[in-house]
Amino acid sequence: CGIVGYIGTQTATDILLAGLEKLEYRGYDSAGIATVLEGEIHCVRAKGKLYNLREKLEREVNPAKLGIGHTRWATHGKPEEYNAHPHMDSAMRVAVVQNGIIENYRELREELKERGHEFRSDTDTEVIPHLIAEFLRQEQLANSQPTNSLLEAVRGTVNKLKGAFAIAVISADYPDELIVARQQAPLSIGFGQGEFFCASDTPALVPHTNAVLTLENGELARLTPLGVEVYNFAGERLKKYPRTLNWNP
Ligand code: GLU
Repeated sequence: CGIVGYIGTQTATDILLAGLEKLEYRGYDSAGIATVLEGEIHCVRAKGKLYNLREKLEREVNPAKLGIGHTRWATHGKPEEYNAHPHMDSAMRVAVVQNGIIENYRELREELKERGHEFRSDTDTEVIPHLIAEFLRQEQLANSQPTNSLLEAVRGTVNKLKGAFAIAVISADYPDELIVARQQAPLSIGFGQGEFFCASDTPALVPHTNAVLTLENGELARLTPLGVEVYNFAGERLKKYPRTLNWNP
């Protein structure tokens, strides 16, 4: 599949849709976008080609400046709207898109269900927002105003996942952050002026910037309107700089 993400000053939906168009070759089963708008996650998904999502989105005005998007190639769960990404936790405060396969999702799902989480899809992906929400709750109980808590919750989660995946994560409680992580599936970050992009493949970034950082396996990053911080899954901050792509059209 293809994943995209945006944080900055422009209308996220337009940028995400344009990015998904460049990645549509990676999956036709469904498409979806989630944004953070007025303290809530706003999620729109449609079965089939991107055109169907575009039609749904045309009916609304959404000025959100932060969002993630997905075009799906179904591996776990039928190609229906309820299995379309983004997926959310029970309280709908965290939204996730994933490219790849979570091999141990069955065990994780059973454990989460026993702890009271309600699942709405058949996908392997849905365990991810539920796990992130659990880690966030633990951190919020432990610290009153933790600054790195979404990053830490995603880090705790990716350390529990087995398989090959790339993810992008937003939360209604963290309106200035986009977290991405990579393990054996491609993910690149595009650097703009006060805005940052992520995508499974560089053609989605090229219209916006030629400063690109490709994450390595076992790395995650926190994107804010002020910059990008890269960490490994052990939580150590890494010094990483974008490279300049040279395009010869
Ligand atoms: N395994 C996930 C799913 O079936 C993601 C597939 C993809 O990469 O599109 O929903």
